[in-house]
Amino acid sequence: MKISVIGSGYVGLSTATVLAELGNDVIGADIDKDKIEKLNNGIMPIFEPGLKELVERNIKEKRLRFTYDNKEAIQHAEIIFICVGTPPKATGETDLKYIEAVAKEIAETVGSYKVIVHKSTVPVETGEKVQKIIGENVKEGVDFDVVSNPEFLREGTAIKDTMEPDRIVIGADSEKAVEIMKKVYGPIKAPLIITDIRSAELIKHASNAFLATKISFINAVAQICELSGADVEKVAEGMGYDKRIMRAFLNAGIGYGGFCFPKDVQAFIKISEQYGYDFQLLKATHDINEQQKELFVQKVKNTLKDIGDKKIGILGLSFKPNTDDMRFAPSVYIIQELQKEGAKIKAYDPEAIERAKSILNDIEFCKDSYEVCEGADILLLLTEWNEFKELDIKKIKSLMKNPLIIDGRNIYNPEDMQKEGFSYISIGRKDVV
Ligand code: NAD
Repeated sequence: MKISVIGSGYVGLSTATVLAELGNDVIGADIDKDKIEKLNNGIMPIFEPGLKELVERNIKEKRLRFTYDNKEAIQHAEIIFICVGTPPKATGETDLKYIEAVAKEIAETVGSYKVIVHKSTVPVETGEKVQKIIGENVKEGVDFDVVSNPEFLREGTAIKDTMEPDRIVIGADSEKAVEIMKKVYGPIKAPLIITDIRSAELIKHASNAFLATKISFINAVAQICELSGADVEKVAEGMGYDKRIMRAFLNAGIGYGGFCFPKDVQAFIKISEQYGYDFQLLKATHDINEQQKELFVQKVKNTLKDIGDKKIGILGLSFKPNTDDMRFAPSVYIIQELQKEGAKIKAYDPEAIERAKSILNDIEFCKDSYEVCEGADILLLLTEWNEFKELDIKKIKSLMKNPLIIDGRNIYNPEDMQKEGFSYISIGRKDVV
């Protein structure tokens, strides 16, 4: 099938590449010329495991190409996926300006029937808005259908998630469009949920809001663990064996970040407000998440007393492992708060340093974890990259000024750290000092 994907970020690029891999004739488009030039030269604009090989193979086999000319992409396709960003406004509402611009461009360009699929995360009723924009601007007699097909991939496993999704949601009010979408996803084995457009849009916001709430819930439990002397890891394990609860997303830490949970929780609160419902549970989810970062900074302050002359080593900057994404990463807030107190920051991340450089100032970026540890008064662990779980702890101790770690992701065992001679503070567990 001839498919175009407008917006070649984490979602668009993964979608375009996987659809090409399934045998379709795909064009990926983006207004960011630099991104498109990189892609056409085999350079990936984002870090995503497995992406480069798949892009290269599909370009070579002529199933995939990239353009910064949206019109070319729109004319090429029978099915157009919209995967542009939906950033938050200062108020927390979703800014739909990119979606609206693409909808207008599609309307002005198409000359025959198209299925227009919005994959970006959008507030309920956006499908109708897109329908209206296209309907008002399209040439007379040109037919089209709008479909909501929200994306659930996770950065770091985007290709696998796109190839093997837990489910595929198709929201449409046209039988014809549903049949075309079934054909697109035919080769992928996953439960297909066919519904109306509004329900599809809500499935996405409700899912992300629920996952964020699960994280905030265990973070709140972690506070009770600290106050009562219990161990949140054991509590989460004990809860997680219950099939109605499950262990995933019960990881206490410094809170969620990234381009999805923070903005989607805020957007869902706003959407609810607009319908006249006060979604108090989600407000608490958000507040607990903010508090979690503040509590972590407080732990550092309580431990170091005077931060002013201290050298603080940071392991992990990206909002989660296996991505270079720094958007709404908790590390940014934590580092900036410590810098306000005069701390000297040294930091390392396996993939996110380049992106971090454009957000954070006055940081000594290091080539590896051990360089971070050299002369550090304290080590803060902010992202649970696998390579941090396998560090030579004895070497770290020999390099640091003080053997002191505050682990925001609970990756080490407190007793082991005590045996190695560290003072070790983590989240929702007894401090070892
Ligand atoms: P992104 O910022 O990585 O990519 C968006 C791309 O759209 C950018 O490259 C931008 O240049 C491009 N763009 C903007 N306006 C354009 C236009 N008029 N024409 C062509 N391209 C244009 O964003 P993302 O992370 O891929 O997210 C996209 C959407 O998918 C968002 O709504 C997000 O909430 C949702 N989503 C993201 C994830 C994720 O893990 N990143 C997962 C599921 C859903």
